[in-house]
Amino acid sequence: MSGTKGTTDQRMQAIVSLCKRRGIIFQSSEIYGGLNGCWDYGPLGVELKRNVKENWWRDNVILRDDIVGVDCSILMNPRVWEASGHVSSFTDPMVDCMQCKGRFRADHIVNNQCPTCGSKDKFTEVRHFNLMFKTHVGALEDSSSIAYLRPETCQGIFANFDNVVNTSRVKVPFGIAQIGKAFRNEINPRNFTFRSREFEQMEMEFFTPPEEAPKWFEYWKKERYEWYLRYGIKRERLHLREHEKTELAHYAAGCADVEYDFPFGCSELEGIANRTDYDLKQHSAFSKKDLSYFDQPTNKRFIPYVIEPSAGADRATLAFLVDAYEEEAERTVLRFHPKIAPIKAAILPLVNKDGMPEMAEKIQSALKRHWNVFFDDKGAIGRRYRRQDEAGTPFCVTVDGESAKDNSVTVRHRDAMNQERVGIDHLVTFLTKAIQGA
Ligand code: ATP
Repeated sequence: MSGTKGTTDQRMQAIVSLCKRRGIIFQSSEIYGGLNGCWDYGPLGVELKRNVKENWWRDNVILRDDIVGVDCSILMNPRVWEASGHVSSFTDPMVDCMQCKGRFRADHIVNNQCPTCGSKDKFTEVRHFNLMFKTHVGALEDSSSIAYLRPETCQGIFANFDNVVNTSRVKVPFGIAQIGKAFRNEINPRNFTFRSREFEQMEMEFFTPPEEAPKWFEYWKKERYEWYLRYGIKRERLHLREHEKTELAHYAAGCADVEYDFPFGCSELEGIANRTDYDLKQHSAFSKKDLSYFDQPTNKRFIPYVIEPSAGADRATLAFLVDAYEEEAERTVLRFHPKIAPIKAAILPLVNKDGMPEMAEKIQSALKRHWNVFFDDKGAIGRRYRRQDEAGTPFCVTVDGESAKDNSVTVRHRDAMNQERVGIDHLVTFLTKAIQGA
């Protein structure tokens, strides 16, 4: 099967099985039969997802003067979720099939036919199902102790708006960013990690004067679409879809989704919304704290508008995986952008003698101060290259018989499979250029 020739189902299955075989993603608590909608990242997967998150953080927080970060608690005062509207309306319409007992989102049913057993017109009435996970805080399990696992990270940002304004040097327009876990009791988790019950979000709330909101909305749509391209996602598979007026939440002045052509269909990676002043107004009303902002240059007080780019770390990771996956006649290869690749370089002694392993270990010690690298001396060199291709490692550094004489190594490039000779003393500079400049 070739990556382009196989059916989309086969392609997805091949990716899922590669993930398991190579320690990228496992089913959560698999030895007990798993838990629907929950996933674990293995040794390679955790590096991959960290790279996605760290590049997002670097680009959105570290490299910008107008965005700061926070890390808020997952459990919050339940009033937060009343103010945000989640307690009353974060629901999915749900029906049960009376034939096979399957449960589905009513708006996903086509021609009133059960997607599992095929029976027609056998559904229960639509019921509304709140997607928030409920728990109790403290020893008493009564209504006064109810708390929720946050279904999105952004409310922690809104609740801290005043704290951040009062403690940092930020001035509107500015943003607050956060990466963290979110939980939704999705009715129908599916498509591998795409729709999970526990997942991570990378969200940023950009506060602007109301009149500047349309400008910043345009800016963030473009910026966020291009972010995925910068890390190697293919342009022809990435789309920016503007929402119709009828799709918009009642408070939103505009919304667009960054969508990716997954093997299971074109689906949302990230939403960018102009949420107006809705959130800060709601929290002002519910908390009785004035969350307006005083703008010194204009001597005006106002409630800022918010532009929100809201991305899923797991969905982005899945898109990078799917996009990178290729099957060729001789090998399976993950063509990750070097900044996303879990392992940046593998260090391989050609044979296990003549001082080559020792030299390779010394190189590994030097390189691992900079990147996640991997030492492998097991098996034929061709097989070792293939294993690294499958892990998406962009560079293999081979120590051979000449290395001791000319103090250099062979660097093999994953994609073109070409090789070049590089002096050991220049290896860090060479790889830095190759990774940063890619
Ligand atoms: P969908 O329509 O797919 O349910 P949504 O519009 O409800 O998504 P948002 O509330 O806008 O999603 O959340 C922002 C981002 O969080 C999404 O673009 C997605 O990347 C991520 N996300 C949301 N729900 C899930 C989930 N169940 N599993 C994994 N990621 C998710």
